[in-house]
Amino acid sequence: MEVYGTYYFPRSSKTCAAKVEINKDALKVLSANGLLILEVEQNSVLKNLPVPGVSSSLEFFDGSIFIPHDSSIRWFSDALSAKVAEKLASNLKVVIAMFIVIPLFMWILIFSVIPGIGAYAAEKVPEAPKRIISKNVMDYLSERYFTKSEINDEDRALIKGYFFANLELMGLNRNQYELLFYKADIFGANAFALPDGTIILTDEMVDKLSSRPNALLAILLHEVGHVENNHSVKQIVQSFGVGLIFTYLIGDVQGLSELVTGSGLGLLQSSFSRDMEIEADSFSLEYLAKIGISKTEFIFAMEKILENDDGEGDGSPVYTRYLSSHPHADKRISLAESY
Ligand SMILES: [Zn+2]
Repeated sequence: MEVYGTYYFPRSSKTCAAKVEINKDALKVLSANGLLILEVEQNSVLKNLPVPGVSSSLEFFDGSIFIPHDSSIRWFSDALSAKVAEKLASNLKVVIAMFIVIPLFMWILIFSVIPGIGAYAAEKVPEAPKRIISKNVMDYLSERYFTKSEINDEDRALIKGYFFANLELMGLNRNQYELLFYKADIFGANAFALPDGTIILTDEMVDKLSSRPNALLAILLHEVGHVENNHSVKQIVQSFGVGLIFTYLIGDVQGLSELVTGSGLGLLQSSFSRDMEIEADSFSLEYLAKIGISKTEFIFAMEKILENDDGEGDGSPVYTRYLSSHPHADKRISLAESY
């Protein structure tokens, strides 16, 4: 390696054009006409940390300094990466390990470390940001998909009254919850929970289960399970973390910013993980049992929702639309049966 630059003599203002030659461990400073000024061992030289746009200088034991003309010279990292590359090339085992270790590391990061951080964050996140996220999601949905519910006031009041009375009976904090009704054909028969405890029922869901208040309660308790277990916050942290990793790997910075700013829609579009759905189902079944309601109400609700659509709406059957936000229905039914 040969690098041209300026040599600054020790304890003097004298400088001269010079070049540095690096050969294995030895480092030589030569004047423009080839005279040896200094010869040292490479590791006795102080290499200044690289700063973008600034030449990375060398500082010698006697106080003299060499500054290269080319500001992109990176002594330290060059030497380091050269060493690593050399090691890799000479050791096939290392190369193979890289193909195993890195994917394994990514896997642990995505499936263990990030969910761990999500769970930790979910415990720590106070109510205020949850309210902000919920409001953003509500605004987004109201603007685009929700219209005024066509369920009559009396029925809505009955459903609300039944829901809140049972929350109290189960020892849950009813003040944390709000139940809203909307007509939203695009979502079919559906229910959503926002992080702040707002639960939304679509008219289609109410219609499907109007004859079975306890089946509707089972659906609502599933959503309460999402809220009580802070699934939204966990989900946001996870998609953010995974987004960061993929940004690092693929460099999709725009995608990441969309992920952050558009977390409202992302939250609804990306369904909760299977584990979260199971947790919410278990919550529902557990609390139904607490007040003596049979799990058959839960199973009835599942089966009713999975019934084929009449072909209206956007053309896709209701069950596929429900499944897009609540997947694995068959497994959920068998879980309930074995509960
Ligand atoms: Zn769910």
